[in-house]
Amino acid sequence: MKNFTYYRPKTAEQAVALLDDKWGTAELLAGGTDLLDLQKEYIAQPDKVISLSGIERLAGVGVGHITGRDDAAGKEADKNTWIIGARTTLAFLAEEPNLRQHFPALTTAAGDIGGPQIRNMGTLGGNLCQRNRCWYFRDEHTHCLLKGGDKCFAIDGENRYHAIFTQGHQCVIVNPSTLAPALIALDASAEVLGPKGKRTIKLADFFHAPGSAREREHVLAANEMVLSVTLHAKGLKNASYEVRHKQSYDWPLVQAAVAFKYEDKKARDVRIVLGHVAPTPHIAVAAAKAIEGKEVTEATASAAGEAATEGAMPLSQNAYKVKLIAVAVKRALLTAAGQKKYWEV
Ligand SMILES: Cc1cc2nc3c(=O)[nH]c(=O)nc-3n(C[C@H](O)[C@H](O)[C@H](O)COP(=O)(O)OP(=O)(O)OC[C@H]3O[C@@H](n4cnc5c(N)ncnc54)[C@H](O)[C@@H]3O)c2cc1C
Repeated sequence: MKNFTYYRPKTAEQAVALLDDKWGTAELLAGGTDLLDLQKEYIAQPDKVISLSGIERLAGVGVGHITGRDDAAGKEADKNTWIIGARTTLAFLAEEPNLRQHFPALTTAAGDIGGPQIRNMGTLGGNLCQRNRCWYFRDEHTHCLLKGGDKCFAIDGENRYHAIFTQGHQCVIVNPSTLAPALIALDASAEVLGPKGKRTIKLADFFHAPGSAREREHVLAANEMVLSVTLHAKGLKNASYEVRHKQSYDWPLVQAAVAFKYEDKKARDVRIVLGHVAPTPHIAVAAAKAIEGKEVTEATASAAGEAATEGAMPLSQNAYKVKLIAVAVKRALLTAAGQKKYWEV
């Protein structure tokens, strides 16, 4: 690991002031479950490591006072608004009973990540900003597109865990965050702090398909940080379903997160988001349309699953993921609607 200077600021403003305006020279340190690996592998070689552990207000979950209004509608909105600090651990997200009641897609996704050690250290902000798992990117000696090279080695190489929605992408990584599809399905937004102050980014707009060393898997500037994520409890049915190698410790092969209103047995305002199949979380518009206005049954959920595969262009070794998407979407929809889990008998 390259030597670095360690900082432990007390406020988010001090942390941001220590960041540089281009990537590579300074890194925020949350739980360290990704950053320390990257440093040990010489993929990240920052001069400054800025720990977030001294910034108390980044940890924990609050039910928000966000509208600033005292009328009944404002109070109701406050009661249903959840603000989750960026340093909140994955273990907390997985286990908090009130969160589980409103946002099972999020708590299930958090509970499926790694093992207890990773969940105890890993944080919400770190999960959203973690680097991709492409083995060419993670190999110190491979000079791929994301490390200043001129080639994505996965396109014609070992690509069984890579993207299947590949159209228009020079680099075929998959976004590694399993919280991301759940948060996008739940219409969450992130509060971000930079040198010019705060801004709010919808999670649906937070991710980016990188194609060079000057870019990351998200849209933050190098001198910005995530402060919190905001969710609104709207009584949505929601779920996340992952297809994995047995009960492994590893990232899922594919994931589907769904959220919808369910009134009179009709699914409305359906959002279906796929994980681990594209360089960014993939919003499956055709799948949502296929089930919009319908009762969620095995037949309609199956049809939505098939529709979710629209536009897939798999690589030489990962066509198997196309079938898995259909399964994940079907099971996520049935789970959210409270149907019997026939696959668990
Ligand atoms: C064996 C194993 C299995 C795993 N399985 C999964 C899985 O199935 N699904 C999944 O989603 N993840 C998985 N992970 C990854 C894990 O979830 C991440 O490593 C973890 O969430 C990162 O959080 P952290 O706090 O440790 O981040 P760190 O390692 O501290 O930071 C990661 C990156 O995020 C940046 N960062 C941290 N906090 C902020 C912030 N507030 N604002 C801006 N940037 C920030 C850092 O600068 C760094 O670049 C797995 C990891 C391991 C080791």
